[in-house]
Amino acid sequence: MTAAFPARFPLAALPTPLEPLPRLSERLGTEIWVKRDDLTGLALGGNKTRKLELLVADARAQGARTLVTVGAAQSNHCRQTAAAAARAGMECILVLAGSSPASVNGNILLDTLLGAELVWSREGDRMAVFEETLARAEHQGRRPYRIPYGGSSPLGAAAYAQALAEFLQHGVAADRLVLASSSGGTQAGLVAGAHLYGYRGRITGISVDQPADALRETVAELASRTAALLGEPVAIHPGEIDVDDGFLGEGYGVLNDLERVAIRTFAAEEGLLLDPVYTGRAAAGMLARIREGRIARDERVVFWHTGGTPALFAYAASLLEQ
Ligand SMILES: *Cc1c(COP(=O)(O)O)cnc(C)c1O
Repeated sequence: MTAAFPARFPLAALPTPLEPLPRLSERLGTEIWVKRDDLTGLALGGNKTRKLELLVADARAQGARTLVTVGAAQSNHCRQTAAAAARAGMECILVLAGSSPASVNGNILLDTLLGAELVWSREGDRMAVFEETLARAEHQGRRPYRIPYGGSSPLGAAAYAQALAEFLQHGVAADRLVLASSSGGTQAGLVAGAHLYGYRGRITGISVDQPADALRETVAELASRTAALLGEPVAIHPGEIDVDDGFLGEGYGVLNDLERVAIRTFAAEEGLLLDPVYTGRAAAGMLARIREGRIARDERVVFWHTGGTPALFAYAASLLEQ
């Protein structure tokens, strides 16, 4: 790497643990480990904490006073942004899709406790409401800093290039990393890190909400820009991005049996909690691919746990459906 690594505002407890899953591995006949980014330590953790270390450092360097971001109602990214703002002594405005629910639970409860101001997009387009909210905060002299959807700018994604280096330090040679991929920043950062640090295994993103072609394009472009930001300009093409969109079911945040089974399996066999929207879907995809032989028996696989467990409580009813 030729460029200095971007400045960090410390928020995460790093390195996160890498743990074997012996019971599940034995039953499936494929060796599985888990990288515990659900344990990053900021207000119940998750993958956005690493990105926020770089984004908050940039916000402070620019003299911003208010973090503004956007997401789904049960956004883990928004909850971690609210916590990061509290830790940095900043204000936080979250633009959330839809309307304020009758019962406040999961991440929405935590957003409120963490002191964030919630703006519901209601019938409006959430990105349009995000722009209006930024403009209003600017006009009011609140010095807003824009954090994109999922924290997935090249700067945010750079945190996952560094996470790949952290992973290599564990010294566990993995043939494949499997993760939930949505706004693409996590996968893009890992892919950029693989180029930077010479990791040759596969990096399989299980799409949570997008068709494979669209997500491959997003990840490739973001990975190229992230590598350039880190001083290593490489052209990363969509064809080299491994994305599986076979588990979209009825769309974002709608649970089906595959996810319910995956969540119960990890919980009951390994004492490990997944989340209903992201890691539940990614684990369901990984288990199905192992069953179908699309992940080979002799591979050593690392499931990258990206967090999201606070949303379990908001999805209690659909988790308990038979
Ligand atoms: C945001 C999120 C992801 C997806 O990460 P991207 O960088 O947006 O692709 C995966 N898992 C959880 C729990 C998340 O909150």
